[in-house]
Amino acid sequence: MSLTTDTYARGRRVHTLTACPCGFIFSASEPRWKHLLDEHKPEDFGLSPLGEIPDGHDRPLYRGETA
Ligand SMILES: [Zn+2]
Repeated sequence: MSLTTDTYARGRRVHTLTACPCGFIFSASEPRWKHLLDEHKPEDFGLSPLGEIPDGHDRPLYRGETA
């Protein structure tokens, strides 16, 4: 995955995805979401498939411990 970072006034930084992990290269003004929505599934990024709820999805992230 390739990112560029631009820094604007007052230190605001904007990160832009320039290439997808699949090798697709984005043009400068191309909407990134279109490629991700049309060409990929959640499994491509380590997520559960759409409509599938994994076991333990409601388990506390940190064993129920509080700070
Ligand atoms: Zn891709």
